[in-house]
Amino acid sequence: MPNIIFLGPPGAGKGTHAAQVSEIKGIPRLSTGDMLRAHMKGDTALGREAKAFVEAGQLVPDSLVIEMIRERLKEADCKDGVIFDGFPRTRAQAEALESIVQIDKVLNLVLSDEAIVERMKGRRVCPDCGYTSHTEWLKGSTDCQACGGTLVMRDDDAPETVLNRLRVYHQQTKPLIEYYSGKGLLRSVDSFGTVEEVAERMRKALE
Ligand code: ADP
Repeated sequence: MPNIIFLGPPGAGKGTHAAQVSEIKGIPRLSTGDMLRAHMKGDTALGREAKAFVEAGQLVPDSLVIEMIRERLKEADCKDGVIFDGFPRTRAQAEALESIVQIDKVLNLVLSDEAIVERMKGRRVCPDCGYTSHTEWLKGSTDCQACGGTLVMRDDDAPETVLNRLRVYHQQTKPLIEYYSGKGLLRSVDSFGTVEEVAERMRKALE
């Protein structure tokens, strides 16, 4: 069964499309960003350790996220394949992952820095369930369509932190494109356009 990685810059739509594919394929989506935010919200030891890095737009140390993923993969729902969303983000994470599971495909979402900055400005998320939307579609509403909670801007979507996250992406995560392309696993998907347009390209890339 498939293990699929969603690669791409912050704000390129990994979460949105990984959630769709997770539903279609009936396999769980493992988002290290969501997992870290849950730890921070629950004020766990890991959450306390991760907090300063996340808030500054830096990567959380490899050892922490690798252990978090290793533990999560032991759970029963992961046995038929998973979708990795936001992991791996460094070469060390990619190599560690390889020693745990076999990767079948890497979907690389492509979006320009300018488009990313625009998207993040309007991104709104539900702190209760993780549902994500955009001011363009919300038309003034702050209601979460998934659980009825209230949508907010994520702290690390503040413009100066977004620039930091983009810098980190270019330095540490972008080299994984070449890494996975060298292994013949990479499929690039243009992430510019509507959710439906991108979802259609995604479907083709997954065939
Ligand atoms: P986005 O994809 O929009 O950047 P995420 O929710 O995936 O958002 O990540 C938010 C933050 O969580 C990152 O900026 C980073 O601090 C931390 N994080 C998430 N995944 C990882 C990872 N694999 N390695 C290190 N840090 C991570």
